[in-house]
Amino acid sequence: MSEQQQARGAATPRRVVVAGAGMAGVQTAVALREQGFTGTVTLIGAEPHQPYDRPPLSKAVLLGKAEDSAFDVDFEALGIELRLGCEVAGARPADHELDTEAGPVPYDVLVVATGAEPVRLPGTEGMPGVHLLRTLDDAERLRPVLARQHDIVVVGAGWIGAEFATAAREAGCAVTVVEAADRPLTGSLPAEVAVPMAAWYADSGAVLRTHARVAHIEPGVVVLDDGSRLPADAVVVGVGARPATRWLAGSGIALGAWGEVVADDRLRTSAPDVYAVGDCASFPSGRYGERLLVHHWDNALQGPRTVAANIVGEAPAAYDPVPYFWSEQFGRFVQYAGHHATADSTVWRGDPSGPAWTVCWLRGNRLVALLAVGRPRDLAQGRRLIEAGATMDPGLLADPARPLKSATA
Ligand SMILES: Cc1cc2nc3c(=O)[nH]c(=O)nc-3n(C[C@H](O)[C@H](O)[C@H](O)COP(=O)(O)OP(=O)(O)OC[C@H]3O[C@@H](n4cnc5c(N)ncnc54)[C@H](O)[C@@H]3O)c2cc1C
Repeated sequence: MSEQQQARGAATPRRVVVAGAGMAGVQTAVALREQGFTGTVTLIGAEPHQPYDRPPLSKAVLLGKAEDSAFDVDFEALGIELRLGCEVAGARPADHELDTEAGPVPYDVLVVATGAEPVRLPGTEGMPGVHLLRTLDDAERLRPVLARQHDIVVVGAGWIGAEFATAAREAGCAVTVVEAADRPLTGSLPAEVAVPMAAWYADSGAVLRTHARVAHIEPGVVVLDDGSRLPADAVVVGVGARPATRWLAGSGIALGAWGEVVADDRLRTSAPDVYAVGDCASFPSGRYGERLLVHHWDNALQGPRTVAANIVGEAPAAYDPVPYFWSEQFGRFVQYAGHHATADSTVWRGDPSGPAWTVCWLRGNRLVALLAVGRPRDLAQGRRLIEAGATMDPGLLADPARPLKSATA
C-alpha cells in the first residue's frame, strides 16, 4: 500500500457496514480495499450462500452447466468480515446502528446494497409449482423442473421471462409465455424494436401469448382472464422486480416512487454517512437529465467504485454512467447501452428480421443509446461514442457494413 493510501486509510472512518451481499455489496467491499481503506469492512447478507453472481442463474446454473456462480473473491485475505444468513431488519441513522436478527450492529458508514426482489403474482405466495427466479435457491428448485421436461407457463415476457424460456426450451420443455401487453419487453423497449423480437419465441418453439392476463392459478393450470386454461406442471413468474428496501421503513432514509433509496450523484442518501448502490438505489443522471433506477449488473459493478472513493475521502466525479446490460435469449446475444427515453429518432443497421442488427437512438444527431443483436463490435464502439457525446451522420450510420466509429459527423 502506498504512503498516500496509508494516510488516507488513517483519516477515514473505521467501520464500514454493507447491508446486502450481492454484486453491489461485494464490489463495494472489494473497492474499499482496492482504494486503500484500512478500517473494518462487514458485509451482511440475508442469504446463507457464499456471495454469488446472478446473471448465470438464468443461464448456465439453471441448465446445470455450472454448479453455482460464487464470486471469485478471497474475503478472508481482504479482511472483509462476512455475516451470511443474517437479515437486516432496520436502520437507525441517528444512532449509526443497524438492527439485525442477531442484534444491533454499529457503523461509522453504512452502504445500503440490498438489491431488488421479484414482484409476485397476488395470491400465489407459497403455492406449489409456482416459481420465481432471483436467487440461487430459486434456480436450484427450477433445475429438476427443467430436467423433467415439464409443461411450463412463464408469466411475463420481460428479460427474465425470455431467458428462462430459452433455457426451458433448450432443456426440452413445452413453454408458453403469457404477456399482458401486446408485445415482449414492453417496459424496456419501444414497439418498433420489441415487435421483431417477438418472433424469436416461435423460432425457439415457445408459444408467446400477448394480451394474456392471468386471472388465477389452480394446481396444474393457469387460468387467463379470457377463460383459457393452460396446463402447467410449473409456473415461472417474471413480472419485474422492486427495490428490496422495506426494511428501511421508518429509518428516515428517503425512498422514491419505486420504493428505491433516493441517492445523489455521489450515491449519498438523505441520511448522513449512508450510501446506496446497485438495484436498490436511483441516482440523478446528468447525462440524461433524469433520475435513473437501473436493475442491471454493470451498474452494480460501477457504482461501488464511486461509493468507495467517497468513503476513503477522495472527491469522486459525479456518478454518471452510460448504463449497459446484456441478455442471452433464444440463441442471440442482446446488448444495450445508454438510455433512449429522450431520443427523437432511430437509425437501423441491418434488418431486424435477420440474425444480427443494431438500432441506434439519436437526440438531434447525438447518439444516446443503442441495442445490438449479435453485433458486439457495434455495442463496444457505440458505448464509447455515447460516453464521448459523439454526433453521428445518420446516412453513414445506417450502413451496417461501416464500422460505427467511422459514422460520426
Ligand atoms: C436471474 C437473473 C439474471 C440476470 N441476468 C442479467 C444479465 O444477463 N445482464 C445484466 O446486465 N443483468 C442481469 N441481471 C441483473 C443483475 O444480476 C442485477 O442487476 C445485480 O445482481 C444487482 O446487484 P445488487 O447487489 O444491487 O442486488 P442483488 O443481486 O439483488 O443483491 C442484493 C443482496 O442483498 C440481500 N438482501 C436483501 N435484503 C436484505 C436484508 N434486509 N438484509 C440482508 N441482506 C439483504 C439479498 O439477499 C441479495 O443477496 C440478472 C438478474 C437475475 C435475477
